[in-house]
Amino acid sequence: MNTIYLDHAATTPVLPEAAQAALEAMTQGYGNPSSLHFLGTQAAKALTDHRAQVADALGCAPEEVFFTSCGTEGDNWAISMAAHLGRHKGKHIITTAIEHSAVLEPCKALEQQGYSVTYLRPDRSGHVSLTDLEEALRPDTVLVSMMLVNNETGAVQPVAQAAQLLKAKQSAALLHTDAVQGFLKLPFTPKTLGADLVTISGHKIGAPKGIGALYIRKGLRALPLIRGGGQEQGLRSGTEPTAQIAAFAAACRLGKEELTRHMDHLKQLSAYARETLPAAVQGLVLVSPDDAPHICALSLPGYPSQVAVRYLSDQGICVSSGSACHRGKASHVYTAMNLPKPTRDGMLRISFGPSNTKEDIDQLAQALRSVTEHLVAAGR
Ligand code: PLP
Repeated sequence: MNTIYLDHAATTPVLPEAAQAALEAMTQGYGNPSSLHFLGTQAAKALTDHRAQVADALGCAPEEVFFTSCGTEGDNWAISMAAHLGRHKGKHIITTAIEHSAVLEPCKALEQQGYSVTYLRPDRSGHVSLTDLEEALRPDTVLVSMMLVNNETGAVQPVAQAAQLLKAKQSAALLHTDAVQGFLKLPFTPKTLGADLVTISGHKIGAPKGIGALYIRKGLRALPLIRGGGQEQGLRSGTEPTAQIAAFAAACRLGKEELTRHMDHLKQLSAYARETLPAAVQGLVLVSPDDAPHICALSLPGYPSQVAVRYLSDQGICVSSGSACHRGKASHVYTAMNLPKPTRDGMLRISFGPSNTKEDIDQLAQALRSVTEHLVAAGR
């Protein structure tokens, strides 16, 4: 059976160049970057080069890149750091109701420690508003955490405008953005966004799972996450995972080189899907706004998404019923968007990668048509 992978927002296949870089780091450049002998100094030099490649793709200085084990770790670290740094100024945090649980859960934990958190609600198209942010802002607000691209709808949030608002209001709040779904999909840098803290993750861009990074703006007095041997400028100790970092750097280098070509390709796929799928499948509702080109959320109201996902999987087509992290729980994003229940229950998230083609979308359209026929025949 032919595999059609349309779930790149959940994870991506590892690029051959990234796998090769990891293999070389594991079998040849395997020294510990802290060791004094030649294998150690070679590994330290490779680490410096790899950090520079990640920094180049993100558009920041290498000293502002701190390797983490994943996006979840970066989000948790950013939020606890901002709360700690602002502890003498206040205990109010603003985030959005549509963040990934990697942001929502640490915010909830802070609520239990006496912080108050405002969750900005999205409109029907999945965007939060600057007016709501302005209304929520208080003198004791220490952090605004707003994702760049929503992982379930592809809606791009107004992060740069939020930074301008914080500046105009002379707010002391730090700005964190979870850019896991935006990195190397949209052109941005921490500076163009005006963010103090930016989370990225390797496995969404063709690197293996187990590596990510947190951008920490130069000059911010950062809070150590893990104390020990002093790696990562003393902020995240532990022997560096040099193989994952090598792979991450390779994926960053390729992703940056190909950004314009990939964006054009994904835009074409997205436009094709938005045109052909509703025409091909009766009752199909497009939920995503026409924002980030790699994520397209749609619904087959009346057809339970988990059944549809399994049916498509049996045909070799991998899509998601929302964020892969939900494991079947109702999506807080679609609920916050106030979508009607039948639409929410029938949600499917299609997410494209560079290797997808229009033929993949044609096959998806055909399979979605047969989902509706199959489920009607089976009495749903
Ligand atoms: N933030 C967003 C927006 C995501 O989509 C994800 C993963 O799906 C994460 C954070 C978590 O990243 P990781 O899987 O690297 O922990």
